[in-house]
Amino acid sequence: MEITGVSVRLIQPLRRGRVLCVASVTFDNSFVVRNIRLLEGPKGYFLAMPSQAITIKCRRCGRKNTVRSNYCNLCGTRLPEERIPIDSETGKPRSYQDVAHPIKTELREKIQASVIEEYKKALEQQNKQSAQGTVPTQYKTDSKLERQIGEPKRFISGNP
Ligand SMILES: [Zn+2]
Repeated sequence: MEITGVSVRLIQPLRRGRVLCVASVTFDNSFVVRNIRLLEGPKGYFLAMPSQAITIKCRRCGRKNTVRSNYCNLCGTRLPEERIPIDSETGKPRSYQDVAHPIKTELREKIQASVIEEYKKALEQQNKQSAQGTVPTQYKTDSKLERQIGEPKRFISGNP
């Protein structure tokens, strides 16, 4: 499977939490997966595939509840104990599942590398634009600096 297109939308530092960008990735010019997020964790970059909350249907009223609920949010009926799927990798309960997911590590790594590459390009482009004054100062992104001071860049005084 070949990656034939990647587009990213940068998430601005004030809003992003740990999400750096949201990407759309096209495969073989014929299949696109949107809403892939690139995050930065303690061990470096990692990808989160698009996911949805796992729900369980109440036996009594049919209401869909999250797996974290013990009782139905609509009618109060106790939900069955065996409702929570266990993650085979971590052994912990899961409340989200990926809607699209690379099965092979090789493909996951390929997707991740492509998204990181596009992310860096977009970041560079953005910094270039902000240096030219086409982007407001508070949107300038310098993640290395942010990590060091733990604050968004707008708190650093700008050019005189
Ligand atoms: Zn119910």
